Amino acid sequence: MNDLKNLTSDEIHGQISEWDLPAYRAGQILSWLFEKRVRDVEAMTNLPALLRDRLRASYSLHSLECVRKQGSKDTTQKFLWKLPDGQFIESVLIPANPALYGDASDRHTLCVSSQVGCAYGCRFCASGLEGWKRNLEPFEIVEQVIRSEQEGGHKVNNIVFMGMGEPLANYENLLRALSLLNAPWGLGIGARKMTLSTSGLVPRIRDLARQPLQVRLAISLHGATDEVRNRIMPVNKKHPLAELVQACRDYQHGKDRMITFEYILIEGVNDQIAHADDLGRLCEGLKVKVNLIPYNKVEGLPWVRPSEKVQEAFAARVRHHGVTATLRREKGHDIDAACGQLRLKELNVSGSPPAIE
Ligand code: SAH
Ligand code: SF4
Repeated sequence: MNDLKNLTSDEIHGQISEWDLPAYRAGQILSWLFEKRVRDVEAMTNLPALLRDRLRASYSLHSLECVRKQGSKDTTQKFLWKLPDGQFIESVLIPANPALYGDASDRHTLCVSSQVGCAYGCRFCASGLEGWKRNLEPFEIVEQVIRSEQEGGHKVNNIVFMGMGEPLANYENLLRALSLLNAPWGLGIGARKMTLSTSGLVPRIRDLARQPLQVRLAISLHGATDEVRNRIMPVNKKHPLAELVQACRDYQHGKDRMITFEYILIEGVNDQIAHADDLGRLCEGLKVKVNLIPYNKVEGLPWVRPSEKVQEAFAARVRHHGVTATLRREKGHDIDAACGQLRLKELNVSGSPPAIE
């Protein structure tokens, strides 16, 4: 049964008109779903009982159950959700950095998951350890925002698709979720306040370029040569770096679109000065900013983060090429905020180190 919160305003209007009911009923339903955010059709008290029965007979209205919560209201908070079919996903609510936005900032970023598990198997990542289970439905993405606001006590005004899963591998549901999140009748979050992160699904990046909704794009680069990328990201064998960079170029062509390159620093893999030079050269001619992220240790995996000295030297060398690079002091290290880690604990899986090719 389709979930009521998978439907767009047009589809709800279509259903209401098909049932020969007045159009304002659709507006009432949307308001119950996205403003008052009820979890049961029975709570939609201004609808006639007959309409409520009909809705219940035709659609489900599922919510996410919060099974674990870490952190406190003033810090990074992490939520583990149980989905209607018993699978687990996670979201992380991150307050604004006071150094950047001031103490009074009410800017809260939610990091959402897009799939249960991930099929892309990047060697350093907890999300791929257990393989891919399934795509999230649009409502399961939207519900992460709604439920995090309820459980976390803050309004979410920024969304990054950097939780579990590869968002562009769940393309249709992702687009639908984005429009529910963006629509004025939905959650009303501006497109420029949403960032998609991808490991480099070139054909989908090209599809995305043709979308009217101008969300931000982040590329998980992590290596500036095929040699490094092939070693840690299997997706690079399918879509090598030159192809990925060309897709980024085309994505930006003639438009004022900045792309972010995410680059995790992993000791002995991609953290040498020569790697920084490779990265600097790769960025030339692209409108990019680089986010350098010290690797977040994953239990069971062999990788470690380089020392702060090495991190700083790497950042300085990238900047030397005229590239904007920030070294992210990531939050939530203490609460397993790296994607996929909390779920792994819940499943009680200790990942065995994948072979390095
Ligand atoms: N699948 C998408 C989005 C989810 S991963 C992607 O790969 O872009 C979100 C980001 O977290 C990616 O940049 C990913 O490489 C990074 N990441 C994964 N494991 C990490 C770890 N242990 N430490 C730091 N960043 C990690
Ligand atoms: Fe999947 Fe992204 Fe993790 Fe790679 S980094 S395994 S694409 S979630």
